[in-house]
Amino acid sequence: MFYTSTRDKSVRVTASEAITKGISSDGGLFVPTEIPKISEDFIKELIPLSYIERAKKVLSLYLTDFTADEISYCVEGAYKQGKFSSDKVSPLYKLADGEYVLELWRGPTCAFKDMALQLLPYLLTTASNKTLKDTEIVILVATSGDTGKAALEGFKDVPNTKILVFYPVDGVSPMQKLQMTTQEGKNVSVCAIEGNFDDAQSGVKAIFTDKDIEKKFKENGLAFSSANSINWGRLVPQIVYYVSAYCDMVENGAIALGDEINIVVPTGNFGNILAAYYAKQMGIPVKTLICASNANNVLTDFLKTGTYDKNRSFYCTASPSMDILISSNLERLLFHLCGENDSLVKDWMQKLNSDGKYTVTDDVFAQVKSLFAAGYCDDTATKETIAEIFGGKNYLCDTHTAVALNVYKNYKSETGDNTPAVIASTANPYKFSASVLSAVSDNITAENEFEMVDELFAKSGEPVPPQLGALKGKSPRFTNVCKKQDMKQVVFDMLGI
Ligand SMILES: *Cc1c(COP(=O)(O)O)cnc(C)c1O
Repeated sequence: MFYTSTRDKSVRVTASEAITKGISSDGGLFVPTEIPKISEDFIKELIPLSYIERAKKVLSLYLTDFTADEISYCVEGAYKQGKFSSDKVSPLYKLADGEYVLELWRGPTCAFKDMALQLLPYLLTTASNKTLKDTEIVILVATSGDTGKAALEGFKDVPNTKILVFYPVDGVSPMQKLQMTTQEGKNVSVCAIEGNFDDAQSGVKAIFTDKDIEKKFKENGLAFSSANSINWGRLVPQIVYYVSAYCDMVENGAIALGDEINIVVPTGNFGNILAAYYAKQMGIPVKTLICASNANNVLTDFLKTGTYDKNRSFYCTASPSMDILISSNLERLLFHLCGENDSLVKDWMQKLNSDGKYTVTDDVFAQVKSLFAAGYCDDTATKETIAEIFGGKNYLCDTHTAVALNVYKNYKSETGDNTPAVIASTANPYKFSASVLSAVSDNITAENEFEMVDELFAKSGEPVPPQLGALKGKSPRFTNVCKKQDMKQVVFDMLGI
């Protein structure tokens, strides 16, 4: 299997090259030239297996230039016992008949990003041994909060790598900020930028494709890669958990093998839901992919109208990891839906850059509508949903998951579609204690983050993840704030070049 670029179909690289490069030099994203198909028998064989064994089988369909031993080494390292707070790695929680919450936040940093970012360092170092001998890899990350910490944790002290994370100075929760600024490790660095996530992401993308930087890097034996979901190595581990969730649905009797499910995903950069799309294209019986957004509802509008228009207000919401107006991974979907017409995709992306908007063809829009449903909710509805689920089902969810649950509830009442659903739960509630506490309690006495954690625990009895509790009283290591035009210099300073 090979990978090509969404903006230049003549590109043909192996999985290892796609993962080490992160992004194609034409600015496009790497996509598989063919989506591997799985049969019902294949799924049947996966059902009795552990998450690790399922992952090996699914990944080997995509990472065809990795040996079976290499895949085993990577997967066993990433998901080994003790790293995730559930033996199932990402367990399904039954909320109601036909409603299953897929808990993707059981990893070391308590957000779903761990599912991919525990594996990516293994994939990347294995891949770079094949493609880039004697080169140190510099991981550059733009984060809306969760990717940064998960990437730092995944790459900390990994030989031959350095990692630098940029986050929007006012765009992350206090717990997210503390998780990043206290990060340990010899090869890590963190810097805030004056701007929002889109500024951070654009800055990082510009650095990746800057020819001068590339030259300077070559001279110094360095090469960039990305831990953002523009990197194929971030997406492919996410396909696994949708396949695995389907197996669990069959195993626990929620559905029979072959029955369809719906998948609901709280969405920002369109990575997580795109992984669900790949699972569907592979042959997992999925009826509808339901895309849930917060007040930054650019994707809701796109999926309902066929026009992507980022010319709108940007809101800082209670679900900050979804405060995004440029959803990078949509580019991959468009490439697949438009018959791999690279020049059309390039044209749309240029329009997005120059005018902030583009409209897809009728044919592409018709496919979008048959695959996806979409909805959004504001912070008030998010908090009402947290309260409702906690009060009614005694289940405490975070703000991002609440957006998904709210959108799903509205979807069901509008369509009457009762197909059993898997709802992606993307973060532990204690990452967003202030919002979650204010949703379930009206007389808050806590005055700081950790008092809120204590109060939320007193109210809910939901255990506090030890890795979050341990941040109390830790002093930050990284306090730098830079302007967005200075990001390049920060990179040079960190590397001492
Ligand atoms: C990153 C993130 C999202 C959005 O996921 P995308 O893949 O960017 O769509 C949702 N919820 C949480 C908690 C996240 O960290």
